[in-house]
Amino acid sequence: MSPNTPVTALKGVGKVRAQQLEKLGIRTLHDLVCFFPRTYEDRTRMVSLNGLIAGEPACFHATVVTAPRTSYVRKGLIYTRCTIADDTARIRVTWFNQPWISDNLQPGHSYFFYGALAGDERRYEIQNPVAERDDSTPVQTRCIIPIYPLTKGISSKALQSMIFLALDALRDNLPELLPQSVLAETSFMPVYEAYLEIHRPTTQERLNTARQRLVFEEFFQYSLGLCLMKARRSRESHYPCRLPIPKQFYDSLSFSLTSAQDRALKEIEADLLSGSPMNRLVQGDVGSGKTMVALGAMMMAVENGYQAALMAPTELLAVQHYNKLSNILEPLGIHCELLTGSVPAAKRRRILDYIAVGAAKIVIGTHALFTETVDFHNLGLVVIDEQHRFGVRQRAALSAKGSTPHMLVLSATPIPRTLALMLYGDLDVSVIDELPPGREPVETFLVSSSYRARLLGFIRKQVSEGRQVYVVCPAVEDNEETNLTSAESMYASLQSSFPEYRVGLVHGKLRSEAKDYSMDQFLRHETDILVATTVIEVGVDVPNATLMVVEDADRFGLSQLHQLRGRVGRGGGKAYCILVSDNRNPDTRKRLKALCATNDGFKISQQDLELRGPGDFFGARQSGLPMFHLASLSTDLGTLKMAQKAAESFAASCPDPEDPATKALLDRVAAMFTAADDTFN
Ligand code: ADP
Ligand code: MG
Repeated sequence: MSPNTPVTALKGVGKVRAQQLEKLGIRTLHDLVCFFPRTYEDRTRMVSLNGLIAGEPACFHATVVTAPRTSYVRKGLIYTRCTIADDTARIRVTWFNQPWISDNLQPGHSYFFYGALAGDERRYEIQNPVAERDDSTPVQTRCIIPIYPLTKGISSKALQSMIFLALDALRDNLPELLPQSVLAETSFMPVYEAYLEIHRPTTQERLNTARQRLVFEEFFQYSLGLCLMKARRSRESHYPCRLPIPKQFYDSLSFSLTSAQDRALKEIEADLLSGSPMNRLVQGDVGSGKTMVALGAMMMAVENGYQAALMAPTELLAVQHYNKLSNILEPLGIHCELLTGSVPAAKRRRILDYIAVGAAKIVIGTHALFTETVDFHNLGLVVIDEQHRFGVRQRAALSAKGSTPHMLVLSATPIPRTLALMLYGDLDVSVIDELPPGREPVETFLVSSSYRARLLGFIRKQVSEGRQVYVVCPAVEDNEETNLTSAESMYASLQSSFPEYRVGLVHGKLRSEAKDYSMDQFLRHETDILVATTVIEVGVDVPNATLMVVEDADRFGLSQLHQLRGRVGRGGGKAYCILVSDNRNPDTRKRLKALCATNDGFKISQQDLELRGPGDFFGARQSGLPMFHLASLSTDLGTLKMAQKAAESFAASCPDPEDPATKALLDRVAAMFTAADDTFN
């Protein structure tokens, strides 16, 4: 049998089982041994009966003294009791609703048990212990028990048995996929041993060693895939450029570029002139001027005779980009079109025609841009804005469409290098680490809700000066359990506090037209105060907004708060961010204070990563990362770094793809990337 043998080859795995396994994504023996335990229960501690402590489960060896007797108390409650003893004590054991126990226990025989003491001094007993004969398999006592993720129709124990069968079948057939060069530099456990240990651990220490190897392997394969993607594209571009960024781009700007913008543009220009496809990420804080950089790139593509497309994550942002950019482009005679999901059919057909014949030079839209019906005349450059929702796989899919246009990705989420490599390891990176001049940092304060009256006064002051205010809440509706400030109740309360002002509301539960309407009103200054949930997090640009209030700020990650804060102070004029939180936890306060002290997105993201793990960078939304079987981005960062380095040097050593070991590894890497089950959102 080989790792690719279907599970049905195992004894006892028939059609029904195979179907159940299929639902878990398990088809082959390899899939089965890669289905890792969710957690473990350590049942290695042995005690004598008088050493049992209430509530602390342990193993003990004891003799059944009285035959188990089952009593029917009432419907739904049956208990089975007997007395057990060892040299040190005699004690009653009770099992609830497990009458079959009495078939397994013979008086006068001894068994291994695993359980805990319950009750009090008057009457201790042991409840629901696991009991097994000295020779039973698989062992359920005196060992570390793997606990598999809950699955419909298959118990953890049944899974364990099947995995053991698969492990037996693969004993001499599990190929070592880590290259010799990597193994030589590390002291990893051999591959088969590691799989064995992860499913039937012998000691906690060996389990950790096994886990470390398998985590490393997963990260290594993923990182190698990215390195290979990056290396593969150094072939010739179908869209070679000879002309530099046109002078009219620079002339059309009403400001001079920051030196960071300049540097990024030079890098882009060099990429486009190089003759190979560009794959570049521009990373910079909110407001650092990434859109202008993208504009320069798009104008260069047009200058060289190609079309360019800009893809925004939401319709609202697409419209905003379109309004801003077409203002600059149309006077220069560069025709620009907006294509989103909500363009009416007739108009859509017209736009599609313009795109197909190449009359539309620059097309701005949502991912509707890349549906089958959109046929570009000669799309040479794709710009993807706010990329963290757009994963590696989508990028691969996009470049597979047509003939690999140049690709520019913009991200406003500054993330530490290790994570950046996971998300964008296939890209070159430009960093815009400077804000346009005259942009004062947003002044940030942390207050408790007892400052409410003063806070309202501050809002009044801003609005009376003609400014606009955001109030962000962590929840949409009131909920007694969480007791969080909801957008709806805040909306009602601000309306009554400020009858003379116009208050708007936007949150994720509104229909998209309603959302757009609210945002639009705020954009046009038809509302003064916008109460919102984090739907406003991404990219919205209202230069007149100068105050951001975040309710229950402790509920948000630092990076998320930093993004929210970036919504204000975009139009000159002093801007403020007020974090409201009554949380007294010292760590939480430290976190929020850190945000008050710095405006540097990279510093903040590093702290966030250390304090909360990587979840916040990617949010609840899909991140485009593959699902790792075992590896966790929050606890295995050290291993990740090691694996990334190893993958880089392995890729750089130009391994021979015909070598059988390398071929097996590359097949595994390819399978990993096709299995990443991302969807567009
Ligand atoms: P980002 O996409 O990085 O958040 P934008 O490109 O939207 O930033 O720029 C934010 C604002 O700053 C826009 O109003 C833009 O016109 C302006 N801007 C961009 N670059 C400069 C610059 N070099 N000097 C002054 N203002 C700039
Ligand atoms: Mg932007």
